[in-house]
Amino acid sequence: MTKLSLIVPCYNEEQNVEAFYARCQEVFPTDQYEVVFVNDGSKDGTYKKLQKLHEEHDNILVVNFSRNFGKESAIYAGLHYASGSYISIIDADLQQDPEIVRNMVNILEEKPDIDVVAAYQAQRHEGKLMSWCKDRFYKFINRLSEVDLRENASDFRTFRASVQKALLDMPEYFRFSKGLFSWVGFETEYIPYEAAERFAGTTKWSFTKLLKYAMEGIISFSTLPLQLATFFGAIVSAIAIIYGIVIIAQTLITGIDVPGYATTIVVVLFLGGVQLLVMGILGEYLAKTYIQGKHRPVYIAKNVLEKKNTKEEN
Ligand code: UDP
Ligand code: MG
Repeated sequence: MTKLSLIVPCYNEEQNVEAFYARCQEVFPTDQYEVVFVNDGSKDGTYKKLQKLHEEHDNILVVNFSRNFGKESAIYAGLHYASGSYISIIDADLQQDPEIVRNMVNILEEKPDIDVVAAYQAQRHEGKLMSWCKDRFYKFINRLSEVDLRENASDFRTFRASVQKALLDMPEYFRFSKGLFSWVGFETEYIPYEAAERFAGTTKWSFTKLLKYAMEGIISFSTLPLQLATFFGAIVSAIAIIYGIVIIAQTLITGIDVPGYATTIVVVLFLGGVQLLVMGILGEYLAKTYIQGKHRPVYIAKNVLEKKNTKEEN
């Protein structure tokens, strides 16, 4: 049985996959690990490079998606095909050194009560605004949601097959790995690491993509925004009652006073805004429920290149 499976999501990584595999060969003995490359609908020559690697080596499995489904789907596919006792999720761009995976495996072997070893970035190399936004996100989601996310820990982790099974048992469509990892529980040890520069190519994450991802995380793991309506409603009603009493008192004491245009407009606009906001939030949840309700698969694999020492399947 294979000792270690590396799950490697690849999207337009033609310049990296070979270097990545070469680095793995330096770090792990060939018969002790396998690499599950998931080609996430790359538009460049990634699949060709993977085919070549697969041809040349026995410990490579390639899952080839029919289009780009996103990294989270690629991870889920990788989990399906990984057969090692230890499973690791790692990027193809060599920002995360396979050497760290070896340390993670050592920890799992030494400490039977630890199930997951996760790496967190000791230092982030990014702009102040981005850093601030990420800080806010972690604070926000940790306070609002049922999961507790470790700041700066990504999905770069190594874990036991029991954790793999738990993750596979959650076939949800909107996959937010960090949250899923927290949700399934298990004992997790965090180790610091320094992310290297990308070996080649560019990052696929833009600010808007990250924002969308953050929203997804919050919606997937918290229903608190839905309670905003109750909260706003209660506050506005309380204010309305107090203001109502004041107006009645004023009318009784000083008679009917017609002016009040400004107050009326402000109240109407404010209530309109709050209602739209709350409806928008409801809509976000409804849309997610709607899509999940279709029970579409998380990914579609066009073909799979099985490991060569097992059977070939297309
Ligand atoms: N990735 C993927 N599908 C996507 C986007 C990214 O499989 O739609 C892979 C990518 O090939 C890489 C990993 O996810 O192996 C991390 O992506 P990237 O390096 O762009 O993210 P960053 O390291 O900048 O956070
Ligand atoms: Mg990267």
